[in-house]
Amino acid sequence: MPKYVFVTGGVISSVGKGTIASSIGKMLSVRGVKVDFLKIDPYVNVDAGTMNPYVHGEVYVTSDGSEADLDLGWYERFLGIPTSRLNNLTTGQVYSEVISRERRGDYLGQCVQIIPHVTDEIKQRIRAVADRRGSDVVIVEIGGTVGDIEGLPFYEAARQMKLEEETLFVHVALVIYHESTRELKTKAFQHSLQELRRIGIQPDVMVARSPTMISTDVRRKLALFGTLPIEAVFCSYNVQPVYRLPLVLEEQGLGDYIAKKLGLPNSPNWSGWKRVIELYDRASTPVRIALCGKYTKLEDSYISIKEAIWHAAVALGARPQIEFVETEEFEENPLQLEKLSTFDGIIIAPGFGKRGTEGKIMAINYARTRGIPMLGICFGMQLAVAEFARNVLGLEGANSTEIDPNTPHPVIDLLPEQRGLKALGGTMRLGESEVILIEGTLAHRLYGSRSIRRRHRHRYEVNTEYWDALRSSGMVFSGFTPDGTRIEVIEIVDHPFFLAVQYHPEFSSTAERPEEAFVGLMEASLKRAQERLRGLTLSASTKTDYRSA
Ligand code: GLN
Repeated sequence: MPKYVFVTGGVISSVGKGTIASSIGKMLSVRGVKVDFLKIDPYVNVDAGTMNPYVHGEVYVTSDGSEADLDLGWYERFLGIPTSRLNNLTTGQVYSEVISRERRGDYLGQCVQIIPHVTDEIKQRIRAVADRRGSDVVIVEIGGTVGDIEGLPFYEAARQMKLEEETLFVHVALVIYHESTRELKTKAFQHSLQELRRIGIQPDVMVARSPTMISTDVRRKLALFGTLPIEAVFCSYNVQPVYRLPLVLEEQGLGDYIAKKLGLPNSPNWSGWKRVIELYDRASTPVRIALCGKYTKLEDSYISIKEAIWHAAVALGARPQIEFVETEEFEENPLQLEKLSTFDGIIIAPGFGKRGTEGKIMAINYARTRGIPMLGICFGMQLAVAEFARNVLGLEGANSTEIDPNTPHPVIDLLPEQRGLKALGGTMRLGESEVILIEGTLAHRLYGSRSIRRRHRHRYEVNTEYWDALRSSGMVFSGFTPDGTRIEVIEIVDHPFFLAVQYHPEFSSTAERPEEAFVGLMEASLKRAQERLRGLTLSASTKTDYRSA
């Protein structure tokens, strides 16, 4: 029978439940336990696809094409298990199902209520995750903070499951560092515990989230208020990289504690994961990467890209210094473009809508003409085609019809099946599909295969009417859909590294398995960084020569 670990949060949202849930998953999986995850998002949206990445962070795409919460990305990066639409549950999904059942007449004669109808639907969906891969343990993370009005039916369903299944409740809450007295304060944590108990949940384990390790006194105090032995209180303090967290919690005994409580195998094998951490510790050559986009003020908007850069970099011994570059800056002041020359690699981010688009095209032009390694992702690939059409083919005003519906040269246009679509939720070309790579190209060399599978999220594509013109001017199409009707990868020869992909490589990168397009970019960027650093030492030694002369 599958077992369920519920992770609840207190004091603030974004307290780190996602990485703690992933760490618990890792601790169990290195013990040979088959784990799966469920992220519950109590908001009323059906999925994250219609939410602004600026507010909610990145929209993650699962292999089967659902637009999901970014925490699913952490589960994949830590465990390498592809997620599906079953791994993210929202109030919107639960209610639309219950309401459509009511309309069908499934509850005929009954008064449809939160308890039992809504809670039954929630429990059934939690159990469905265990069935997905026949998992031993499902880790269920309830998003937001205990006490949120929207979360109540989910906490209630969890409370009921305590009677019906083997469960373990882990409460994660912030211990606040108070500047003026220079001490860690537990009062807010205590209040979150009271709130949890008010709705009938007594935690089995508590994790204090704090900047530094909590003292034994603080642990003891939390244990007392939580009615738990001190051995059940753990601390998630700030660690770099975040992939170290499972090891930190393991050292404190969390893995052992959970394994014993749930009667799971308890001989962990950390060797593979420790190798990952060693790579991070050893990586030393600084490589400067510009991530050009428009949601640059909230780092979470590009979290998978940022992590994918790190995965690839450390595997090569490089330590990336990622700078988020707002491309609108280039539109306001083209002189700002010069700053790109100080970078070793450039990523043109995915995106939607007009803001910052011209600036992205300017950045692509800079990377292409100055030989700076560049990777374009999705919208970044589409704009690379627009840039090439404008500046190599001389097609003035070439653009995507998404940005300029009246462009004289619609080099990027709606996918045929998107025409006439009205509803915007979940209707893009979404999810994983096969990409065929052409032998002899950079893409084929990087992936070492003729066929790969990658995830998508877009409505537009390279317009077939411009294929011949683009190709005859030197653009290489190196990846296609299996039927050959859509372009998936473009590249340019006579350039240190210029690759742009219609799919999202960032969703296929994990800590133990970096994604190839990122590896290619980082290889080329590392080379440029080494040349830059040699240049620096060269100019330093020239200076010495000059002085001694
Ligand atoms: N806006 C573009 C499209 O819909 C690109 C999407 C993206 O970058 N994810 O095709």
